Parts: sequence; C-alpha cells; structure tokens
Amino acid sequence: MLFRLLAIPNLQVFVNAPLARYTRFGIGGPARALLDAADETALVEAWRALRDSGWPREVIGGGSNLIVDDSGVPGAVLRYTENSIRFDGTTVQAGAGAVLQDLVDATIDRGLRGLETMTGIPGWVGGAVYGNAGAYGHSIEERVARVRFFDGESIREFGRAECRFAYRDSAFKHCKNWIILSVTLQMEAADASELRSLASSILKIRNDKYPPSMRCAGSIFKNLMLAELPESARARVPGEVIREGKVPAAFFLEQAGAKGRSNGAIRVADYHANLIYNTGGGSARELRSLILDLKARVRDRFGLELEEEVQYIPAAP
Ligand SMILES: Cc1cc2nc3c(=O)[nH]c(=O)nc-3n(C[C@H](O)[C@H](O)[C@H](O)COP(=O)(O)OP(=O)(O)OC[C@H]3O[C@@H](n4cnc5c(N)ncnc54)[C@H](O)[C@@H]3O)c2cc1C
Repeated sequence: MLFRLLAIPNLQVFVNAPLARYTRFGIGGPARALLDAADETALVEAWRALRDSGWPREVIGGGSNLIVDDSGVPGAVLRYTENSIRFDGTTVQAGAGAVLQDLVDATIDRGLRGLETMTGIPGWVGGAVYGNAGAYGHSIEERVARVRFFDGESIREFGRAECRFAYRDSAFKHCKNWIILSVTLQMEAADASELRSLASSILKIRNDKYPPSMRCAGSIFKNLMLAELPESARARVPGEVIREGKVPAAFFLEQAGAKGRSNGAIRVADYHANLIYNTGGGSARELRSLILDLKARVRDRFGLELEEEVQYIPAAP
C-alpha cells in the first residue's frame, strides 16, 4: 500500500505522523500516514489507493478547529495543500490549501471588500468553506460563488445555493467523503486603506482574546439561535447579550460556572467561558471530558444542549 502511495507524483507521504504537531490544540496521536496532495490528480489517486486497500480516511486542513483522539487515526489523514490565489477583476479563486489569512490579505491589498472581517481566523480556505467560518457579523458564504470538490468518485462544482450554507454549517459538513478543492469568491471594489484599517483593528482585538501561542480552537461551542430556544431559557436571556438573533454560548456557560474550570492540563479561560485551551501536555481525553462536563452543567441549569463547533477526528461516537 505505501509503495503505491509513494509512487504518486505530487503526493508527500509521512508515515506514523504525530497529529499533535498538525493541530492548534497540540493534541492527538499518530496517523498511520499523513498524505499531502499538492494537486487534484494526486488527491484523487491517493483517495482511490486508500479506498482499494480499505484504509480509514480523514481530511484535515490547517488543524485549527480539531480535537484529534489520543490514539490518533488508524488510517490515513489527507490534506489538500494546493494554495494558489488567482484574481480576475473582482472575482478571486483560491485553492483549499491556501492559508485563509493570505487570502484575506491579498483581497485587501487589491482593494476588494468581503473578507476583511475574517482577518485573524486561523486555518485554510477549505476548512473555512466547510464550517462557513466568519466573524463580526459576516461569514464566508456571503462571498462564495462556486465550490469545486471531489465526492469520492468524481470532481464536481456547486453554486452557493447547493452548498446549503447556514451558521457554521454547509453541505460539506454532512458528507464526510467530500473534499473541497477550491472556491471562487465574488468580491466588491473598495478602498484598500479603509479595509486595512478595519482589519487591523479587528486583529488587535482578536490577538488580545486569542494570543497567537494559545493552544485552542477558538470557540468550542456554537452560539444558539434565540428563536430556537425553549421559552424557559429564552426568558432568562437579557436583551443586551443577543447579537444577530443569536445568544452566545458563553452566556449560558458563564452562568453555569464554566470560567476557570479545568481538567488536568485543559482549562476554560478566566475571561471567556466558551474558550478552552491546553496549558501544555493536555490530552484529548481530558479535553473531551471537560467539554462533556460543561455540556452537562448547561443542560442541568437551562435544559439546553450545546453543540460543539469544534470537530472531532475520528468523528465523535
Ligand atoms: C484562535 C482561534 C480563533 C478562531 N476564531 C474563529 C472565528 O472567529 N470564526 C470561525 O468561524 N472560526 C474560528 N476558529 C475556528 C477555525 O479557525 C475555523 O473553523 C477554520 O475555518 C478551520 O479551518 P482549518 O483549515 O484549520 O480546518 P481544520 O481544523 O483542519 O478542519 C476543520 C474541519 O474541516 C474539515 N476540512 C478541512 N479542510 C477540508 C477540505 N479541504 N475538504 C473537506 N473538509 C475539510 C475537516 O475534516 C474538519 O472536520 C478559530 C480558531 C482558533 C484556533
């Protein structure tokens, strides 16, 4: 099997790769093989080789929204690393392996509005499309014109409507075999210096909240839609915490005593109840059990089920 993979051009193969090194949490056991595919042909050939030999497969990007199990992955982890960024007027096409911040910076430099509020969100473009990443009232879906992806059999393209974007959600999140290859975004002409000054003020706030060295995944839980809350919980939410029809998960977590809680080397930030980080040497087991503890506290107090924004590899049982 490894011989077949090693023969594929533009595929880098790392055997027994420690996944902790590839995740922002710094947590996770080894993958039997980590495969970096630099073009579509390499990706498709690798996928077929893995399928033929029955190896389990996982796809990751920049590793900024992942909890990888301590036992690692008993098969292959694939990363699609094609990272081109190409402009045609106000349209931009980016490979799924492009660093999101590089795309944000490139659009700002060209005076193109649409991604500037996403400045400082870690990870790659493919991961951002998968989870419909966003911040400050905007998310990537607003700019998506088309997404090119591999569905395990062939390469296809979806327009925005077919991507079924919703808050931190997309069609790709529900089809684990699909691999995002590239995205085409429709931007708007604007003044570059205005965009740059907005982006740098956002970046400053973000760096205070999430210091670049912090081993975390941003928010652990999704915020909650006010309209979907049971009446008993809705009645306990003060108007000033509601933003764009959502109640921050941090509001419920804070009331449930989450701030500062810890389990081994994993800790909830003192200043933000929806931010969990690894203080060093933490494990997925500790992290998962702290997450379950916080969910139980919110359930007991408010009758609400928090949903993780962070993704588990392998998928949560
Ligand atoms: C400090 C910090 C702050 C953050 N702030 C925000 C924020 O403000 N807003 C926000 O939305 N997110 C935020 N996040 C979360 C994270 O940055 C985003 O979810 C990001 O888009 C994940 O991209 P990634 O490449 O790191 O994906 P990964 O973490 O590698 O993967 C996440 C998921 O995407 C899937 N995936 C990745 N690439 C592909 C692909 N090519 N094809 C198919 N599936 C794929 C993986 O299977 C996995 O399920 C933050 C994270 C951190 C650490």
